Amino acid sequence: MNGENMKKVIITGASRGIGSAVAIAFAKQGYSIVLNYNNSKEKALALAKTIRDSYNVDVLAVKADVASSAQVNEMTEKVLEQFGSIDILVNNAGIAQQKLFTDITDDDWRRMLDINLTGVFNCCRSVLPCMIRNHSGAIVNISSMWGQTGASCEVHYSAVKAGIIGLTKALAKEVGPSGIRVNCVAPGVVMTDMMNGFDDETIQQLKEEAVLNTLGTPKNIADAIAFLCSDKASFITGQVLSVNGGMVI
Ligand code: NAP
Repeated sequence: MNGENMKKVIITGASRGIGSAVAIAFAKQGYSIVLNYNNSKEKALALAKTIRDSYNVDVLAVKADVASSAQVNEMTEKVLEQFGSIDILVNNAGIAQQKLFTDITDDDWRRMLDINLTGVFNCCRSVLPCMIRNHSGAIVNISSMWGQTGASCEVHYSAVKAGIIGLTKALAKEVGPSGIRVNCVAPGVVMTDMMNGFDDETIQQLKEEAVLNTLGTPKNIADAIAFLCSDKASFITGQVLSVNGGMVI
């Protein structure tokens, strides 16, 4: 399926968790895939090989810390050099941290903001000139149900995830006339490395809080993202799609 005519997608934080499931969902549809990673080089390269071998699509693994506009711009240049165009951006890279509000340090706050919110800004700003030239494109930003409702002991995380919702809505209004859709997915609890700090009892409690009595899989989130990027969602922009098993309704 390799070829110039295939659509191209950049997925940030694609080395693990939800991002890697998103990469597989797009590979199954024949997209050319850009796997962005920061620290997990081996995992990203192994995923690139699996995707190439299993789905016969073009794959590029690119290291960039999304918090750095210079590194993000270099990534975009590399992608344009290799693939010529960018059709879809999935802003998935993110970190979490659980702390009492009064224990959050200046560094904790700044890091949360830099990676989870400035990262989205950096990536959108970097790819949009290409999408505007093409008069076509779709962006999906990954927020969280905590960005919708707020979480105790995750005030900084909740604040930046709420910021992503505001950025999504405003950007959708600005670039809609240029043929570009911008949407947001707000996942509930999804079993990835991000949940490693939670004990079994807490996980069980979280499961019971969801009306479907189950926690999410990376694939549940990837399927929602793939839908929002597809032609089936061509009349949807500026929206937040909650994918949380009914934990927040
Ligand atoms: P994860 O398994 O911890 O993976 C996080 C990913 O983000 C990794 O691929 C990591 O890449 C990447 N990343 C972190 N900092 C980065 C940086 N500075 N630059 C580039 N990449 C960076 O987390 P996940 O659960 O898949 O979460 C993915 C997204 O979903 C996040 O935005 C998260 O907030 C959101 N979310 C998750 C849940 C959940 O319950 N899991 C719920 C709601 C929302 P490297 O390892 O290569 O550094």
